[in-house]
Amino acid sequence: MADDFRTVPIHPPKTRTFSSLGRRLVLATLLFCLCFTLAMVTLRTWQAWENNLAQMNSELVLIDQVFQNTLAHAIWEMDRESLDKQITSVAKAPPVGRVVLNILRPGQSPEIIEFNRYATDTSGVAPVVHRQLVAQPYIGANEKVGELTIEGDNNLLWERLWDEARSIVITQVIQSLLLAGLVMTMFNRLVTVHVVHIARHLGKLSPQTLNFHLKLQRSVQRQDELSLLESKVNALQDNLRAHLERQHSDELALAASRDQLAELVEARTSELKTANQALEALSRHDALTGLANRRYFDELKDVEFRRAIRHNTPLAVLMCDVDFFKIYNDTYGHIKGDECLKQIAGALSSVFGRSGELTARLGGEEFVVVLPNIDASQACGAAQRLRESLAELELPHSGSAVSPFVTLSIGVAELDTETMDHFDQLLQRADQALYRAKRQGRNCVAL
Ligand code: GH3
Ligand code: MG
Ligand code: MG
Repeated sequence: MADDFRTVPIHPPKTRTFSSLGRRLVLATLLFCLCFTLAMVTLRTWQAWENNLAQMNSELVLIDQVFQNTLAHAIWEMDRESLDKQITSVAKAPPVGRVVLNILRPGQSPEIIEFNRYATDTSGVAPVVHRQLVAQPYIGANEKVGELTIEGDNNLLWERLWDEARSIVITQVIQSLLLAGLVMTMFNRLVTVHVVHIARHLGKLSPQTLNFHLKLQRSVQRQDELSLLESKVNALQDNLRAHLERQHSDELALAASRDQLAELVEARTSELKTANQALEALSRHDALTGLANRRYFDELKDVEFRRAIRHNTPLAVLMCDVDFFKIYNDTYGHIKGDECLKQIAGALSSVFGRSGELTARLGGEEFVVVLPNIDASQACGAAQRLRESLAELELPHSGSAVSPFVTLSIGVAELDTETMDHFDQLLQRADQALYRAKRQGRNCVAL
């Protein structure tokens, strides 16, 4: 469970270059400010240009107003000295770049006096004032004496414009830089610091640290997006912790029930094994005496028969029958009869208990004994021992015509490989011998 949940250190992703949000915001702000500054500088410079033109024009008009009458008077009076003085004054006035005085002389070509502030021609966009100079020799008489043209100083106009444009650019750039700095600082304090804190917190999370809630280091009067993020992260941690605890307890319960199930299966398997063994024993053994039953005897007899044939070893069979057992039942009852059969089976087992010797109840009060590696005479001896063993038990049998105790008649037969090719033939031979034993008076062994 815990393996699925690893602590991830918070570093900038390595595959892509890390770029701070704050820096990107500042770059965007600076770009915007640059465009805005360009637009503002253009607009304000154009306004400054218009203002300068208007200002220069009004200055030229003022100069013109100051000098027009005195100039007209000097021309009329032909006062050359005053004329030169005045025209020089006009030309030296700061906003003036060029002055042209056209003096009309009746009957002659006009005289032109021109002053240029600069050696080269600088005429261009500066304003120009044209004035007809009119003299009043006496009241009511107006005489046109010349024309005055005052042209503004282009260089001065451009100088003024550059001065203003420079200050505009400087103020705009300072304003932009201050704005970007402010944005950077505010964004860093309000957002970046806390986002990095959240990333570090998430990176340190593990199933063991889920109960440590995220706490941003700031004082908030009102809820904002970061508060929302903080509360959602903490809610997610709580949910995850509850889920993991549930999963853990489920896993424990599952493991416990798995163990329980395994134990149960093991117990059931061993019970089943025991039951199978008991069933197998039951199916092969006679319930009353515990000896092998007819079915089991039929299984084993052929095995012994083939073994004897293959190894050419002797094989003997005893066929035993209780004498006058019907009378026994009639005398002592069926239950006592069963008890008696059990005792006879005990005697059989005690005499023929060696390995390889097989004792079985064929049915009723008849028993069979298969004796490998034993010839007929040895088998007769064994049959006699059986009779003696039973006699020692002294089981009373008042109805017997041959003994006061329960007795057996035993027929013995030996395997004859010349004439027999099947076990039943041997069994039949033993049965015939048994018949003879009965005929001979019972309680005896017949071969
Ligand atoms: P014989 O000496 O000629 O063998 O006479 P017998 O009475 O023993 O022979 P018979 O075959 O006439 O009788 C066999 C009797 O065995 C009949 C039956 O009542 C009894 N018997 C057979 N099986 C059982 C049994 O399982 N329990 C009891 N108690 N009696 C049985
Ligand atoms: Mg019988
Ligand atoms: Mg009998």
